[in-house]
Amino acid sequence: MKQPIHGLGPEELAEAVREAGGERFRARQLAEWLWTRFAANWDEMTNLPRALRAALSERWLDLDGALATEEVAGEEGTGTRKILSRLADGELVETVLIPAAKDRTTVCVSSQVGCGCGCAFCASGLNGCTRSLSAGEIAAQAARAARLLGRRPDNVVFMGIGEPFLNYDAALAAARRMNDPAPDGLGIGARRITVSTCGVVPGIERFAGEGRQFELSVSLHAPTDEQRAALMPVDRKWPLGVLVPACRAYTERTGRIVTFEYTLVAGFNDRPEDARALLALLRPFPSRVNLIPLNPVKEFSGRTPSAATCEAFRAALERGGLNATLRRSKGRGVNASCGQLRRSRIGER
Ligand code: SF4
Repeated sequence: MKQPIHGLGPEELAEAVREAGGERFRARQLAEWLWTRFAANWDEMTNLPRALRAALSERWLDLDGALATEEVAGEEGTGTRKILSRLADGELVETVLIPAAKDRTTVCVSSQVGCGCGCAFCASGLNGCTRSLSAGEIAAQAARAARLLGRRPDNVVFMGIGEPFLNYDAALAAARRMNDPAPDGLGIGARRITVSTCGVVPGIERFAGEGRQFELSVSLHAPTDEQRAALMPVDRKWPLGVLVPACRAYTERTGRIVTFEYTLVAGFNDRPEDARALLALLRPFPSRVNLIPLNPVKEFSGRTPSAATCEAFRAALERGGLNATLRRSKGRGVNASCGQLRRSRIGER
């Protein structure tokens, strides 16, 4: 199956141009079309010889080919836009553009078609994981978002459909394309690219050695294995006794703080004893806790705690020495997946 050319790094792009019969300097021109002009198709790349474009198109997909059909839907009241794109094999992939503070835009990319992790509050896991996306299919989502915006997005979060650490090589190759300075990539700062995992420990261990300052976000959602396993089957494979030390080791190795995402569910994980258990779990090392009042979804019967309960929970964590932020969602209705987290990004940064 043809792949989007957006997955290629600088050397690979030079090789692709060479194979297509182009001179070396054409690779730089091509990179500019991909990452600074966000070209939709080969026809737009007018300073490349027609024969070179034809040869490249035999082997690689342009943006139109990579995302063959597109539907852009707004979400009422939030300014959020969703791009639903059909891939070369007919599968659908979702990308979300989320407005943030000061006219910034966060792009939420998907890393798989479906997801095998089966979190209780998520529609994306219902049918399992169909397949992982290629680096090009992930990177092309960011390029498509840039084309829609007419500029480079400000932040990228890997919080769409799929678990990026179960598609590690492609997800990180795509993150590098987004981070590489223009024209070799989108030039988004590493600290503005967040990879979010539901707790895949081998991925966290590899991520610690990446050498780029990408952000790491871990979905915790409960302070004990009993509670967490009820929400997230991944806890049975990598329980808290393995996950939290891996996060601590990540911080010690990289000097970077992990953000723990914690969705507050009424009567389930929002009680004073839950705050105490969370403090005991996380206090041994510096971290950040992002509290998200549950946004009701039809897949999950949990209720949203009151504003007072949420604030009391946050205050208890702060008193205990944890850096805790309470996110207030501005809207409802973006479907599926790590949407609980995605909603929490609305209005951020
Ligand atoms: S919440 Fe995220 S990790 Fe969990 S099943 Fe949904 S897409 Fe997968």
